Amino acid sequence: MNTIVQHLQQVHDRITAAATICNRNHDGVQLLAVSKTKPAADVLSAYAAGQRQFGENYVQEAVDKIAALKAECPDIRWHLIGPLQSNKSRQVAEAFDWVQSVDRLRIAQRLSAQRPGNMRPLNICLQVNVSGEDNKSGLPPDQVEALAQQVSQLPGLCLRGLMAIPEATDNSDRLKTQLLELKQLFDRMAEKYPQMDTLSMGMSKDLELAVACGSTLVRVGTAIFGSRNP
Ligand SMILES: *Cc1c(COP(=O)(O)O)cnc(C)c1O
Repeated sequence: MNTIVQHLQQVHDRITAAATICNRNHDGVQLLAVSKTKPAADVLSAYAAGQRQFGENYVQEAVDKIAALKAECPDIRWHLIGPLQSNKSRQVAEAFDWVQSVDRLRIAQRLSAQRPGNMRPLNICLQVNVSGEDNKSGLPPDQVEALAQQVSQLPGLCLRGLMAIPEATDNSDRLKTQLLELKQLFDRMAEKYPQMDTLSMGMSKDLELAVACGSTLVRVGTAIFGSRNP
């Protein structure tokens, strides 16, 4: 069996185990396979094993991969999870199904205006800086509600949830505090916006903790496709 297929199975087993411990169902946690820097052939291997949602960080690389795979894999859902500059917004609005890294109104407005009318609204997550680190993308938790209010009015977008990349730390208490803060914010907002169903947190190293803290979508790269720096 192909290694990517084996790794994918291992990640599903980890999700199932983590969900079982906290009485959650595996179906409540979706897997986003993060294929940044990896060739289209790797995406195809995962696709053949049933994977349908893929995450990319770099717009040009992603747009090329999306075009290359369009005919063979028409039902892939592509998520942009990396920072987005406004001069790339049109390419993104035309090619992606989701953008998880929205952290300001200007970008949201452009994506909405540039989303082709014959496509479904672009699914959006607001990226939240839960660790408060200066160099991190994402908006501070206390500004999320105001941006959500504005984004939810834009006709080309559908506000689906929140995304965060917590601090890279081995201190699991700190990590847990940050994940739970995002979960609380998400629960408050989901009451107000019924279409908000996605809490995107958890990566290769911390997906168990993220599932325990309420994640509905884990973004996993290394554990599926291997290290990005050989
Ligand atoms: C690269 C990346 C991931 C995947 O990280 P791994 O540690 O390889 O699983 C998840 N989320 C974001 C935003 C990323 O940039």
